Amino acid sequence: MTTHSLLLLPGDGIGVEVMAEVERILSLLNKKSTSAKFTTTSDLVGGVSIDAHGTPLTDAAMAKAQAAGAVLFGAVGGPKWDKVAYHLRPEAGLLRLRKDMDLFANLRPAICYPALAEASSLKREVVEGLDILILRELTGGTYFGEPKEIVTLEDGQKRAVDTTVYTTREIERIARVGIDLARKRTGKLHSAEKRNVMKTGVLWHEVVTATHKAHGTGVALHHILADNCAMQLVRNPKQFDVIVTDNLFGDILSDAAAMMTGSLGMLPSASLGAPDSKTGARKALYEPVHGSAPDIAGQGKANPIATIASFGMALRYSFDMAKEADLIDKAIAGVLAQGYRTGDIMQPNMRSCGTTEMGSAILKEVERLMA
Ligand code: NAD
Repeated sequence: MTTHSLLLLPGDGIGVEVMAEVERILSLLNKKSTSAKFTTTSDLVGGVSIDAHGTPLTDAAMAKAQAAGAVLFGAVGGPKWDKVAYHLRPEAGLLRLRKDMDLFANLRPAICYPALAEASSLKREVVEGLDILILRELTGGTYFGEPKEIVTLEDGQKRAVDTTVYTTREIERIARVGIDLARKRTGKLHSAEKRNVMKTGVLWHEVVTATHKAHGTGVALHHILADNCAMQLVRNPKQFDVIVTDNLFGDILSDAAAMMTGSLGMLPSASLGAPDSKTGARKALYEPVHGSAPDIAGQGKANPIATIASFGMALRYSFDMAKEADLIDKAIAGVLAQGYRTGDIMQPNMRSCGTTEMGSAILKEVERLMA
């Protein structure tokens, strides 16, 4: 029996409500799983940590995150903390986690559950059953390259500069993550860049090709220009499985892909760091894409699916529990097919429910599938 450690950071607003639903699934897995057990600890992050400790993340909570097998994060922020100093704002807690754990790989799946296919802006047949993953490099490229400035020229005009920079090491490590992920899925990896007009694209293509040659056994690599990738995502997204790309293209492609599938309340994500030199395990933080939703916080209306699906990603990518992860995904699809809908995904003639009822329905379905 393997024991996995998980740090829960529910945070503020609906973060607390949606995390409670994951805790119920964790208890069930601890009771029923014959292969793994979870030890969980919790701590404060964001506004609640500011209230208790005067900082959005204490050193002690940071140390727990560094030591955990994975971190599951809810959401932070809210009007109560709008006036705190910039470096102490709730979001600074999340940024510190990302920075100190050096989480350079951002995973954004786009999954379209058949029961929600009608809600997509694309045709049902294009998105029904879609299950792809955009892997975005998160700590380099255009958003961080220097120089980054606006200067005034002699004739009074201004000149703005952003610099896109990538090194071999930065590309290689994200390519390795892409290969690992593709191997855990269907074995297909697309690498998107702009080698036709950008030097970083030329290097990206070269390094991804070499990394695949050295480490990509069992994974088929395809190169695609990022603009064509955008077109293909809208034309026929199901041709993809994992797409690895840089920070700027990844920002755009992941938002486009995610929104094919509906509400913010449905979108999970993960950020991964470098593998540990001894164990090979990667630092990892899993979180819903949405925020603390102050407009519905405390009312039991939040959709817990994004957070439950984020936990499913932790099972798949941190704990090698693909069977259990599949089970969670199946349970979510099953409950949606039964007609359960929180307000954000409500459709005519469906069964309106709140956070706890949706959580209970998923829990029951997980239990049924495990039997
Ligand atoms: P938000 O994601 O919190 O909410 C946007 C809209 O989507 C709201 O109408 C909300 O009710 C709805 N929504 C979001 N998640 C939902 C869910 N699970 N179920 C049902 N409806 C849901 O974004 P916002 O309103 O721009 O920001 C609110 C606060 O959250 C701000 O303080 C912001 O800084 C913070 N925020 C935090 C994170 C994070 O913790 N990662 C991300 C984004 C925003």
